[in-house]
Amino acid sequence: MQIIQKKTSEVESDWQKEIANAFKNPIHLLNYLKIDHAPFSEGVNASRLFPMMVPRFFAGLMQMHEPADPLLKQVLPVKDEFLSVDGFTTDPLKENNHANDGVVHKYKNRVLLILKGGCAINCRYCFRRHFPYQQHHLNRALLLKALNKIESDPNIDEIILSGGDPLMANDQTLNFVVSAIEEMSNIKRIRFHTRLPVVLPSRITTGLLNTLHTSRMTISIVLHINHPNEISESLQIKCKALARRGVRLFNQAVLLKDINDSAAIQMKLNETLFESGIQPYYLHMFDKVKGASHFCVSEQTSKRIMRNVVANQSGYMVPKLVLEEPGRESKTWIDIYAD
Ligand code: SF4
Repeated sequence: MQIIQKKTSEVESDWQKEIANAFKNPIHLLNYLKIDHAPFSEGVNASRLFPMMVPRFFAGLMQMHEPADPLLKQVLPVKDEFLSVDGFTTDPLKENNHANDGVVHKYKNRVLLILKGGCAINCRYCFRRHFPYQQHHLNRALLLKALNKIESDPNIDEIILSGGDPLMANDQTLNFVVSAIEEMSNIKRIRFHTRLPVVLPSRITTGLLNTLHTSRMTISIVLHINHPNEISESLQIKCKALARRGVRLFNQAVLLKDINDSAAIQMKLNETLFESGIQPYYLHMFDKVKGASHFCVSEQTSKRIMRNVVANQSGYMVPKLVLEEPGRESKTWIDIYAD
């Protein structure tokens, strides 16, 4: 495979510095928000189960003095993470059965590359919170090996760059990866699954925009936004810049207890996404990952919420309610009218 890499010219240090300065200690975050940390003291140690990581930009979107803030609840370690609940496991999607040297191949026409193990934010409900990223680190040699293997499979026409978060890779690496994929005759589309532009809009650099803009591929970015309060003006500006360069923007959200489990919040989310040029795409039923059972919304409640949304909002801005079931050939679309 011969790779002709495009030039990148930007200074990336701003977003990288912001990641370095992220809140990693729950007490520091609570102090910043002027919230009494006494009621949360038993939960602080849950950051040992899964480290806390919250960029200051994202913390800036939270309400001061509000312990029930829906953004805070997504990222603050709490004592319920120590609960052991039947049916909640370390690998709820059985991805370990499909993961090989940084590649997860679950579906016929698309394959997922774990480009980076880390994220800029650690969501407490993450279904990959126990994923053995260190076993799937893609160095350049392994990446090329993986791409060669993908190129030899004519069934595959789309590559999903995921993680962790693929935008944790620097612009030079992303430019290399996109250039390498462009050389593959079977690949038509590249899809990024990322939360980074939401929690750190400065990650959408000029260099990244140039790489995406000049690619021959159809490029999609699937963002991960769960609550309308996550949609900042800075994110909207970056979304416009991406759209101007031909990047298609989608959103997938997760239904989370006491965070976005109401029709009113879902409708506000859909509307704000749509106005920001982001197409609501999937609303995921909760993946039963160990340590996060307190976020789980029942199937019955999920269907009721969605019936209410469908009855009150234009169909083109309503996402599909889906469940990921290990072994299936695609996500399962939930029939919201079935009992
Ligand atoms: S950004 Fe995505 S991959 Fe990273 S912790 Fe959150 S849910 Fe998990």
